[in-house]
Amino acid sequence: MSLCDPFSRRINYLRISVTDRCNLRCVYCMPEEGVTLKRHEEILSLEEIEAFTRVAVSMGINKVRITGGEPLVRKGITTLVSRLSLINGITDLTMTTNGILLAQYAHELKAAGLHRINVSLDSVDPERFREITRIGDISLVLAGIDAAQEAGLLPIKLNCVITKSASEPHAVAVAEYARQRGFEIRYIRQMDLCSGSFWVVQGGEGGNCSRCNKLRLTSTGGLRPCLFSDVEYDIRALGYEEAIKVSVECKPERGTISKSGSFNGIGG
Ligand code: SF4
Repeated sequence: MSLCDPFSRRINYLRISVTDRCNLRCVYCMPEEGVTLKRHEEILSLEEIEAFTRVAVSMGINKVRITGGEPLVRKGITTLVSRLSLINGITDLTMTTNGILLAQYAHELKAAGLHRINVSLDSVDPERFREITRIGDISLVLAGIDAAQEAGLLPIKLNCVITKSASEPHAVAVAEYARQRGFEIRYIRQMDLCSGSFWVVQGGEGGNCSRCNKLRLTSTGGLRPCLFSDVEYDIRALGYEEAIKVSVECKPERGTISKSGSFNGIGG
């Protein structure tokens, strides 16, 4: 079975935000004081995420990315990975993490069945990293990347947020680090949901509406056909299959703006 939207785009990629919580406070994502977090009972259980993903895969999804907030702060994250890895039909099971807890989890994630990993790294300079993340210690992230490489979560891709261009000094330094280590790099220009400003990810697939193949599941069970839209379907209310069907049918040709969304809630 496959999912096709009204613009003949095949929809085969599900991004799952497993939490709105994060252990960093990146200046382009969260206010310093953090955000009002969802109540525990609002957050999808591991069982609900697994059950929804099974239905999604039976309808044509074969690529699954686990995001957040920061997915590694979610209790039971390796259990979730192992359950998802057992679903027949997922050909690519990956995660995007800020790397702070990665050294602790890398081997467990690999053993649980995770295929590969993207790590957010906007700078290799400790001071600049602290400035961007407000509270982050870059040595933890670099140790996490080492552990991921050792564990075989390959290929490792680095997500580097830029203001305007990949020739910005911190981005050039991240690219050099990636080159030396044999990692791939993606440049993600800072986006703004409210004003609808976004660009195609350099070196990746994101932001290219004409080829968009994504659905996004929020940590509270909202299925979003598009990041830059306020349209969202409640999978608990509608039922999993119906929510997927209507999300694909109502997927917009291109993104506009999102007033209700937040990156930590939707998972970028
Ligand atoms: S803005 Fe929407 S349609 Fe465009 S690439 Fe992003 S999610 Fe897809």
